[in-house]
Amino acid sequence: MECPYCKKEMEKGGIGANFWWRDNGSSDRVMWEKVPLCSIWSNGADGFYCPDCRIIILPVPEKLDSPMEKIKEKWSKLRGDVEERYNDYKSEQEAEKYQKKKEERRKKDPWEV
Ligand SMILES: [Zn+2]
Repeated sequence: MECPYCKKEMEKGGIGANFWWRDNGSSDRVMWEKVPLCSIWSNGADGFYCPDCRIIILPVPEKLDSPMEKIKEKWSKLRGDVEERYNDYKSEQEAEKYQKKKEERRKKDPWEV
């Protein structure tokens, strides 16, 4: 990777596991926004270091597999499934209603309608 400041090639390396980036927080918030820099199951994250500019660039993994993220993912999938089933059920009911109305009309005396 090229250093964005001096344009020299950066040294490839990494940081150890269990590091987080977090914002500085504010008085109205109890929680910091935390961004894990690598998966909690891995030994660390790959990063790039420029010794001239004394800067490190650390690509953050897109998909985090922390237990909490996994639970959230499963939960939202489950919710989606439930919603889908409910919508299927509703449209089935609508179809049944429509069918019943159709049959009722058919049973009626055609001269009455
Ligand atoms: Zn540099």
